Amino acid sequence: MKTVANFLRPDEAQLLKMGLAACGVTSVLQDENITQLNPWRMWAMDGVRLQVADEDLEAAQIFLDQERRAKVDLKSPAEGEAMNCLSCGGEMADAQTRCPACGWSYEV
Ligand SMILES: [Zn+2]
Repeated sequence: MKTVANFLRPDEAQLLKMGLAACGVTSVLQDENITQLNPWRMWAMDGVRLQVADEDLEAAQIFLDQERRAKVDLKSPAEGEAMNCLSCGGEMADAQTRCPACGWSYEV
């Protein structure tokens, strides 16, 4: 067995385990019960370990990669949303390249 991911939250681990199962990859969760019975202990350990068979390692990593990317996509700001100036932290509209507050500009 190979560990493909560690989780501090057992529910998150369960979610990915189900996702893997949907892709035909069987995985097991190690230490799940320990973290549930003794939540403070998981800080001293690796949390819940998601493990797959050696031959499923590549498929599992591809799946986890996609999951991580999907999460990043969700977090990226929607188009047209205001963002903040990297210099003074003031709000800048998406179309603006120059901060109205301090004059800082994206353009080099
Ligand atoms: Zn600024």
